Amino acid sequence: METKQFKAESKRLLEMMIHSIYTHKEIFLRELISNASDAIDKLYFKSLTDDKVGLNKEDFAIWLTADKDTRTLKITDNGIGMTEEELENNLGTIANSGSLKFKNENKLDDDNQIIGQFGVGFYSAFMVAKKVTVISKAYGSDKAYKWESEGVDGYTITEADKTSAGTEIILEMLEDTDDEKYTDFLDQYRLKSLVKKYSDYIRFPVKMEMLHSRPVEKSDDDENKEPEYEDYIEVETLNSMTPLWKKNKSELKEEDYKHFYTEKFYDYSEPLRYAHVKNEGNANYNALLYVPSKAPFDFYSKEFEKGLQLYSNGVLIMDKCSDLLPDYFGFVKGLVDSEDLSLNISREMLQHDRQLKVIAKSIEKTINSELKKMLKNDRENYEKFWEAFGLQLKYGIYSDYGMNKEKLQDLLMFTSSKEKKLVTLDEYVTGMREEQKFIYYATGDSIERIEQLPQTELVKDNGFEILYLTDNIDEFAIKTLMKYKDKEFKSVSADDLGLENTEKQEEIKAKEEENADLLKELSEALEGKVAKVILSQRLKTHPVCLTSEGEISLEMEKVLNSMPNGQKITAQRVLEINPEHEIFGKLQTMSTTGDKEKISKYAKLLYSQALLIEGMAIENPVEFSNLICELM
Ligand code: ADP
Repeated sequence: METKQFKAESKRLLEMMIHSIYTHKEIFLRELISNASDAIDKLYFKSLTDDKVGLNKEDFAIWLTADKDTRTLKITDNGIGMTEEELENNLGTIANSGSLKFKNENKLDDDNQIIGQFGVGFYSAFMVAKKVTVISKAYGSDKAYKWESEGVDGYTITEADKTSAGTEIILEMLEDTDDEKYTDFLDQYRLKSLVKKYSDYIRFPVKMEMLHSRPVEKSDDDENKEPEYEDYIEVETLNSMTPLWKKNKSELKEEDYKHFYTEKFYDYSEPLRYAHVKNEGNANYNALLYVPSKAPFDFYSKEFEKGLQLYSNGVLIMDKCSDLLPDYFGFVKGLVDSEDLSLNISREMLQHDRQLKVIAKSIEKTINSELKKMLKNDRENYEKFWEAFGLQLKYGIYSDYGMNKEKLQDLLMFTSSKEKKLVTLDEYVTGMREEQKFIYYATGDSIERIEQLPQTELVKDNGFEILYLTDNIDEFAIKTLMKYKDKEFKSVSADDLGLENTEKQEEIKAKEEENADLLKELSEALEGKVAKVILSQRLKTHPVCLTSEGEISLEMEKVLNSMPNGQKITAQRVLEINPEHEIFGKLQTMSTTGDKEKISKYAKLLYSQALLIEGMAIENPVEFSNLICELM
């Protein structure tokens, strides 16, 4: 019997399989079942027009047979089969497979990357088997052939006995090693779970004889005997075949979708929203998309992996295809099934596939419009969603230099000063008073804290609504947006609040001139701490507050400095003093009596107070405490 050599390329691919240390060798089963299903598809198609096939749809099946004694796993199909020539061409060469071409073009060093992401078809059998035998009879042919190989040394093809068309693949499993228990692949439960995991939606049944045991019925006088068990065999169909997402929407109820979500994504809380998408046109795909009600515990960490399951015609190709979701929609769970992504033609090109990009674009649009619908029609759930994932959207506004801000801005929500409720930017702008120029915001650790900020007094007194920003990212996102519907955002701490009252301004200006010496003494006392000391227009009842000039606000300073490896960044601090406050009168008296030392002490105290109100640490607590005691 002549041993034939594999073509050079095939040999390399085989070597890659045999020596692979890939940890998910289990995918070999998916590959072989997919091939079997494709082969059945071909014969089934023929049977629709050709009575001679003699099989009905329900006759087609894939069978798994595992035998631990001989260490063999058999995968049988009654599909189209292969002629001698086809065995030779299809299994002896991989001329049609794009995997190696892809590998060479892309200089991928890591075989695992290829195997893991895409599988490599029939040869993956050599990851788990030391010998592979293929017995096949092509439909319409009267001869059957046997292809056998133990790996790189080559293969033989001989005549064989087989009565009906189809293919039988027999894997003789490798011996167990410390790292891999190949014997597991002969275990009926393991096989069942692998079929469920990877091939659940293959169109034809994957069947297996399962061995179970049951208690033997006892007669009355056996009552006290030990219970006895007997084995019995039952044929089980391991896959559920029709994927939910391929069914008609009209056949499905809300519970079906929710149940599917719980089962598939192991989330016991119901999703806030789901969408069943059937897209045709530039991208053909079915998708099920879910918005979970809670963020997974690792959602805001580096460990979190976003992604949708990706199927090609019901066969799982990737569990988490991250290319299908932009980061800001990384919370979405679900799956995409597309026939545009062929399993047969070079599935390794997938990641660079133009079609995948088209699908991803379309999915992103769908998610965006679903969220907008939820905001409009299901406010309660939207607010829950916002609690769980709003942060991610705000990061989305800020990241990539604001590239996506237009898409995302209408999804934003902030707590507003009016009713302490979440409002959208659109709602804010709609509620703006005619004379109001800006969208005002205030920042702080919590709503309660912001409420008490002296800086908010003036804006509130004018009857304007303020957005309360409590997350670190908020101000960065707002600064990225800059404007919403032509209205500029303005911090309540800004020096140009648009509330200029010329009369008041003149008055303050005059007062500053009058008290120039005092203000100079105060800023000298706070040299290096504040850029300047001014008289405030915005304070009503509080004696002091701290604001900033320039691009960096106090809140941003806090955030930037709390980041690991962040450089030290300081805002240009401005200490504002309320000229109407009693304490200002006292300072004036000190100034006229020339009590510089006291002015310096007061300056430090007032500055520390302003820091505390801002929620910032005072620089010298001991000095602060001593100064207070002195005064007491
Ligand atoms: P791919 O499936 O990506 O084309 P494979 O290496 O898995 O690559 O298979 C090579 C070819 O061998 C298939 O395209 C098919 O023509 C043939 N083949 C594999 N398994 C079977 C089978 N069970 N029945 C019929 N033909 C098969």
